[in-house]
Amino acid sequence: MENIISVQDVSKIYRVGSEKVVALNNVTLNISKGEICCFLGPSGSGKSTLLNLLAGLEKPTKGRIIIKGQELNKLSENKLTKFRQKHIGFVFQSYNLLPTLSALENVSLPLAFRGISKKKREKIAKKILKDVGLETHLKHKPTQMSGGQQQRVGIARAFVGKPEIVFADEPTGNLDTKTTIEVMELITKMARENEQTLVIVTHDVEVARYADRIFYIRDGRIDKIEENSARV
Ligand code: ADP
Ligand code: MG
Repeated sequence: MENIISVQDVSKIYRVGSEKVVALNNVTLNISKGEICCFLGPSGSGKSTLLNLLAGLEKPTKGRIIIKGQELNKLSENKLTKFRQKHIGFVFQSYNLLPTLSALENVSLPLAFRGISKKKREKIAKKILKDVGLETHLKHKPTQMSGGQQQRVGIARAFVGKPEIVFADEPTGNLDTKTTIEVMELITKMARENEQTLVIVTHDVEVARYADRIFYIRDGRIDKIEENSARV
């Protein structure tokens, strides 16, 4: 199968004053196109660091990250931003919606970077907001919605441009158990329908159950990789 994500001998070391923090220690892994993967590990194990490197939001201290055949380090800042806008969607733990914009405006925004007309953007955004069950909340601002509803808007925004890859960092971290199940069912259904590659970071084994493959992370290393036969 085609590797859409390839991580080769990647380390990330942060320097804070005179202290060195090894956030990632020689990580090598491959993810196939269309796979749903999970990075599972305790707090501080390096999960967010790894996801941010894959999304090109940070640079490795050592090693290579190749997405869709493109080594991220070889792109200029400008090209990297364009690459990210075209191929990558991101779902955040705290939703990161723009507070002054409505649900419809938040979801339309990524399409604006692609030169799609306002009318067409709104049409596409409305359709996906309907798909996530928010057709009655198009005009709502983030503060006027529950956590679960805000995360549905966050998911709609990540998927609206049909990126080939979606990254989600603790997408259910602020949600209760029932809403966690709803959000996980939604995000995995959307990824499967469009054959998108989905990488989820979590410390929650219940969330990991939705993945095809689980990468256990501990102290900046991949401890174990498991095919998830008990996938829900
Ligand atoms: P996780 O997402 O698994 O909780 P992180 O990737 O956020 O873990 O952090 C891994 C380690 O790297 C932690 O020890 C953390 O304190 C450190 N770290 C993360 N980001 C930074 C940063 N910007 N500067 C310094 N240290 C950092
Ligand atoms: Mg984290």
